[in-house]
Amino acid sequence: MKLQEHHAKTLLARAGLPVPPWSVAATPADVGAQAERYLADGATAVVVKAQVLVGGRGKAGGVRLAHSADEAQTVAAAILGMDIKGITVRRVLVAPAADIIRELYLAAVLDRAEQRILLMGSAQGGIDIETLAQEDPAAIVRVHAHPQLGLQPFQARQMAFALGLAAHLGEAVAICQGLCDIMLAEDADLVEVNPLALVSEVGPEGPVERLALLDAKVTLDDSALARHPGHETMRDLDEEDPADVAARAAGLSFIRLEGDIGCMVNGAGLAMTTMDLVKRAGGEPANFLDIGGGARSDKVAEAMRLILTDPSVRAILVNIFGGIARGDEVARGLVEARARQARSVPLVVRIVGTNADMAADILRDAGSDIIAARTLDEAVERAVALARQAAA
Ligand code: GDP
Ligand code: MN
Repeated sequence: MKLQEHHAKTLLARAGLPVPPWSVAATPADVGAQAERYLADGATAVVVKAQVLVGGRGKAGGVRLAHSADEAQTVAAAILGMDIKGITVRRVLVAPAADIIRELYLAAVLDRAEQRILLMGSAQGGIDIETLAQEDPAAIVRVHAHPQLGLQPFQARQMAFALGLAAHLGEAVAICQGLCDIMLAEDADLVEVNPLALVSEVGPEGPVERLALLDAKVTLDDSALARHPGHETMRDLDEEDPADVAARAAGLSFIRLEGDIGCMVNGAGLAMTTMDLVKRAGGEPANFLDIGGGARSDKVAEAMRLILTDPSVRAILVNIFGGIARGDEVARGLVEARARQARSVPLVVRIVGTNADMAADILRDAGSDIIAARTLDEAVERAVALARQAAA
């Protein structure tokens, strides 16, 4: 689950890291009011930033500075409603603008191959890290945290020196450590700060330089969400694929793929096997869908509805091995879904195991056009052939 910048900043600030104050607004008038407050507090400008879950907002015109409340309102009116990479901006973040001396990059990511947290930094900040990795890989410093001991203080200092932050060693070490701590505490896959900035601030004794986290990107591990009940409130439903939202609500494990054969299977292993067989028969699966054990007819109907929301689906293959899931329940769900479906595509069904005979009776008695296959091979071949026919 990707977090919006303001939610990511909440996690960073909660960990004690130096994030400038911010607020979130949905109307230009509110942005104007927030700007007025920051400017009255001594800011010379404010920054208004689109809250969308895509990178490169700056380049797209979604990050702009304003020097008065009026200007902030105008800028907000331009950003709100703007389309950035296909996503409509509904909210903006408002913050006192930092006086940036230097921009750097710092991120903690889960390195699955090494089974460790990898801390990546670069003295070239505010850039696209993927581009930098290709064009100048040596400009990226990499440090792996110890799996049990975590990021060691000497490693954090190594990173700080490599980024040219010797004059801000304490702050830099705390930030390095903080990003790694957040990875563990929140079960994150990524905690990225781009830019981490060296900023100039006017203190009581004149200007001082310090580090500030100006942008934040956090991705949480979906499989660990159950361990953090509070995280669910940070989900942005506006930006999720409606099919994903519906699948989660129905308790279905659903992943859209590129092909044209919709698959409905019970059990992840059987679902993968089914996809393999579809490919071996020359077809391409349109999705991975595990309806889980003991699925009732309404869940089956919802699964069918989800598959059909994908316009590229030309045939559906249902493969059920009845154990806890009962064949008759699945069959009832299919008949029910078939009666209510928005669009008709050939439906091939193979049901074996618990109550398979009842399932066969239900499908036959329904008098619908559902094709019952006796073996898995037959089911796969027919589905692939029917999809091909429909494509021709
Ligand atoms: P992104 O483009 O989506 O990564 O959005 P960022 O928040 O990283 O902003 C893009 C760029 O805008 C940064 O690299 C900075 O150069 C600039 N920027 C962001 N916040 C501030 C700020 O507070 N003050 C100034 N002067 N520039 C900022
Ligand atoms: Mn950024």
